[in-house]
Amino acid sequence: MPVASIYIETHGCQMNEADSQYIADRAASAGYAVAERAEDANVVILNTCTVRDNAERRAYGRMGHFKSLKTAHPSLRLVVTGCLAEQDRDRMQRIAPHVDAVFGTSELAQLGDAITRWREEFAETELTEERALRMPIGGSPDCVAGAFSPLRGFVTVQRGCSYYCTFCIVPQVRGRFDHRPMSEVLNEAHQRVVEGAREIMLVGQTVNAYRDPAQDGDFGRLCSRVAQIPGLERLTFISPHPKDFTREMLRGLSQIPQINSRIHLPLQSASDPMLRRMNRKYTFAQYMEKAAWIREFFPGAAITTDFIVGFPGETEWDFQATLECVRSGMFANAYMYIYSKRRGTPAAHWEQVEPAVASERHARLAEAQNAVARAFHDTKTGTEVRALVQGVSKKDRSKLAAKTLDNVTVIVSQPPDYEERLYASEPWLDIRIDSAHKWGCGGTVVRRARRFADRGSVVKPSLINLLTA
Ligand code: SF4
Repeated sequence: MPVASIYIETHGCQMNEADSQYIADRAASAGYAVAERAEDANVVILNTCTVRDNAERRAYGRMGHFKSLKTAHPSLRLVVTGCLAEQDRDRMQRIAPHVDAVFGTSELAQLGDAITRWREEFAETELTEERALRMPIGGSPDCVAGAFSPLRGFVTVQRGCSYYCTFCIVPQVRGRFDHRPMSEVLNEAHQRVVEGAREIMLVGQTVNAYRDPAQDGDFGRLCSRVAQIPGLERLTFISPHPKDFTREMLRGLSQIPQINSRIHLPLQSASDPMLRRMNRKYTFAQYMEKAAWIREFFPGAAITTDFIVGFPGETEWDFQATLECVRSGMFANAYMYIYSKRRGTPAAHWEQVEPAVASERHARLAEAQNAVARAFHDTKTGTEVRALVQGVSKKDRSKLAAKTLDNVTVIVSQPPDYEERLYASEPWLDIRIDSAHKWGCGGTVVRRARRFADRGSVVKPSLINLLTA
């Protein structure tokens, strides 16, 4: 049957990945195949982020890149969605008139309807089973995850945020808290597992603030009900707010066997004056209390975090508090950003830290955290870990990327018996860790298994591995 094809490029956070998965589903139901390259597509979707200035610049850069495609193929539909679309709708139509349509984050259903309507206009390419399997979602511009994408199902539980951190544009572009009914979340998660998901990632701007609108429970209850879906092997969530973790909630989560022993707990700064200016709604001491609860209920848990460096008003004293906290070695990993002014947020109007000072602090913090992350990864060297394959490595197509239960990225050479469909159906890999890096580990596949609880079958090493062992 002749079909049209769609290319979806996703930038930014897991909220956007979840939205792209929704768009991909709508496109698949409308009969689109998925193109690996924008050049091969009838419809190109650019799902944008606006959390920092460079994300915004990159999005406009990609729009410029797609202009030549549009000129060469005028029938191509170029669509922009995501946070930048919400924030810059008028400006975008002025400076990128070659963009055919702009859909804000609250207009995904309309975007799905438009894709469905356009479907009839395109009828060029032949659908093959292999092409139908490709799902171009993921957090990088090359967006290729292949047959492995369905293994992780993103389910949005809540949109928007009402916390108004003074640096954050989310409440303006995504609106205030809007929680989905629990029954809807459960149905969608169930559907994803039926379609082959081994892991469900619950996604929300402040995911653990979730409250069922019909008062059927909070985030802890939601997780325990999702965990009861037959066949679900892992349950993860992003991004929680420290304020919303209670001791009871963490105790309950720790009793759910599918929950990973890695918890993201965004700190932003270890200085109380900074936390107040950021409107983070916790003090450093309160944050540390939550971290202690995590360690109590998840022994050996890996805690990860976010930091903003060079926030308006940050002094060397404030920064030293953050640096000391990092040097204590408490974070397995940290996302560290230099503060970036966002239009429409209070902090954009405050006196800014000199860019050179902010960069220098960022470099010091990164150096300290990289040493800690590398040491954490080194604790795995020589051990064997079970990890869920994520797909072909985006940097080196001859390698596979996998995630351990504590969410460490492990890169392995494609095993001698590697075949995409085989590994997508037996996605649990036992990996011997050979090397540690600041970004994760390198290793060798020893076994692969169909289910998390299975022992799995041995993967014979290649001749090269045998010779170099
Ligand atoms: S909690 Fe703060 S940083 Fe997170 S989405 Fe809400 S306003 Fe933004």
